Amino acid sequence: MSYFKDFNITEQVKKAIYDMGFEEPSPIQEKAIPVILSGEDVIGQAQTGTGKTAAFGIPVVDKVTEDRYVQALILTPTRELAIQVSGELQKLTKYKKIRTLPIYGGQSISHQIRALKQGVQVVIGTPGRLTDHIRRQTLSLDKVHTVVLDEADEMLDMGFIEDIEAILKQVNGERQTLLFSATMPPPIKKLSYKYMKKPQLVAISKGEVTAPSINQVYYKVLERNKLDSLCRIIDSEEIDLGIIFCRTKKGVSELTEALQARGYIADGLHGDLTQSQRDNVMKKFRDSTIEFLIATDVAARGIDVDNVTHVINYDIPQDPESYVHRIGRTGRAGRKGLALTLVTPREMKHLRSIEDEIKMPIPSENVPTFAEVI
Ligand code: ADP
Ligand code: MG
Repeated sequence: MSYFKDFNITEQVKKAIYDMGFEEPSPIQEKAIPVILSGEDVIGQAQTGTGKTAAFGIPVVDKVTEDRYVQALILTPTRELAIQVSGELQKLTKYKKIRTLPIYGGQSISHQIRALKQGVQVVIGTPGRLTDHIRRQTLSLDKVHTVVLDEADEMLDMGFIEDIEAILKQVNGERQTLLFSATMPPPIKKLSYKYMKKPQLVAISKGEVTAPSINQVYYKVLERNKLDSLCRIIDSEEIDLGIIFCRTKKGVSELTEALQARGYIADGLHGDLTQSQRDNVMKKFRDSTIEFLIATDVAARGIDVDNVTHVINYDIPQDPESYVHRIGRTGRAGRKGLALTLVTPREMKHLRSIEDEIKMPIPSENVPTFAEVI
């Protein structure tokens, strides 16, 4: 067992950590922080919701000086995640004069250029918009000493590989590179061999990819009864906040409307909404103004909202890794969470491949009957 006070980091950062209410390091923080502080490249793998952001965030903000140029660059797969990571780093720099800036598509580029000109030490961005700034020469990366690829597997899944490689080529070869992910598929390993120097693998509970605080269950449903089954399931559960995943944007819109029509307080989140619409929906969800967030995978990656008690896969994910990420939206920071998956008969093969990925069987339950709900 180690304590934050034993880490070789400045008092300013320690004080900020305590202000955040963190009492002791999580396992990935305990193992990764000393290795990162020693200057080595690190591949960090740990279950969702186990504090990977602070695992790289603490050493990054500790190293960054108040000099006004970009010293650390963090790549995230989505806009929401860029904002969230930036927020967490801002809390860690409470006692340092350091600016963190999230940079993502959908936000005015001139606004970002102005903010960059004011002097920013840490940039957190999505690969697409970052390459845009590099092309326009509005972001200079020559003095960057640390690059972090957060949720690296997601970035590759989303087709960002070329942008990521283009960005990494812009950064000084002497840099320290950190890569964090909940899953470690072969393309990630390839990327790390190519762009990292003797990376140290820091992995927590390799065999177990889902957090033990998440209870998982699946329901066999018929395609034509799916909506009714969903409603009966959610009516029989005590839900504080729930995220319901659909496969497509169209599916999100349709389900959102159907649930609203039945009186549920729900709103949808997907990639076709404007950035301000997305921000607005996320804000309502964080404030508990809505109870259900209906989302596609793209919109919900990495999202960390307290009190998400339930993740419901209305459409089972086709890709087992996506299952791990989806259900990781609940059961965060040791809290309990429930992951419920609706499975139609022809989707049983997807369920089996998910069970292979998470290396455990998912128990099944019957959809509550109408009488049971009332
Ligand atoms: P991950 O990136 O591994 O999915 P996050 O970094 O988003 O997880 O962290 C999940 C939650 O746990 C966040 O709300 C974060 O503030 C909180 N957290 C992180 N480290 C600690 C800690 N040492 N003690 C208490 N809470 C923590
Ligand atoms: Mg994360």
